[in-house]
Amino acid sequence: MKREFAVIGLGRFGGSICRELSEEGMDVLAIDIHEEKINEYKNIVAHAVIADTTDENTLKELGIRNFEHVIVAIGENIQASILTTLMLKELGIKKITVKAQNDYHEKVLNKIGADHVVHPERDMGRRIAHNIISTNILDHLELSDDHSIVEVKAGSRMHGKTLIELDIRAQFGCNVVAIKQANDKQINVSPMADQIIDQDDVLIVIGADKDISRFEKQLVLDE
Ligand code: ATP
Repeated sequence: MKREFAVIGLGRFGGSICRELSEEGMDVLAIDIHEEKINEYKNIVAHAVIADTTDENTLKELGIRNFEHVIVAIGENIQASILTTLMLKELGIKKITVKAQNDYHEKVLNKIGADHVVHPERDMGRRIAHNIISTNILDHLELSDDHSIVEVKAGSRMHGKTLIELDIRAQFGCNVVAIKQANDKQINVSPMADQIIDQDDVLIVIGADKDISRFEKQLVLDE
């Protein structure tokens, strides 16, 4: 079943969302104030329209109310991003995702009721920083300001031990929710306490950032 998405602002972020959604077979309306952007995307998305989304009537004429999810990817022009989001909210759009340019912008977007505020440069920077700290930390996904999920390669300190021996929940307050097993390429969701860890296994761990950080320093980082 096709679901309808509108993407406002066709910079690198908005443009990449348009491409991915379209490749996944979604019906996308792409909107940008600049004609050259629309020309770039008109053969990629189902519909591409030149419009200034800070104008309420324009939004109404575009039938934006019919879209179940609108992504606002206007970056540098923070005023245009905030105004657009506010009007989408007033028009009753069910789900609004907005790209924030900085922390102040993010705060305002949350206040006016954006459902999901993303901060791609900051988030990617954090993920890469974690990856740089240790080659064992494969990925890092923020769940909230102080909770995350990390994907870590078990490494030598955990090799040959069971989960009960490692006692990760009691020692660090975080939970191993799944293990991608190196030997049989299986994903073991909710592993048992007697599961023996191989150093090449990948653990998916959820918890508070401060707990995950202690876990990483004491059990994951190479000696
Ligand atoms: P990225 O980092 O994703 O490349 P950016 O953060 O630099 O983008 P901009 O290039 O400033 O963001 O904005 C993204 C797009 O939004 C641009 O193509 C711009 O033309 C478009 N845009 C800006 N203002 C409006 C508006 N009022 N209505 C519609 N589109 C707009």
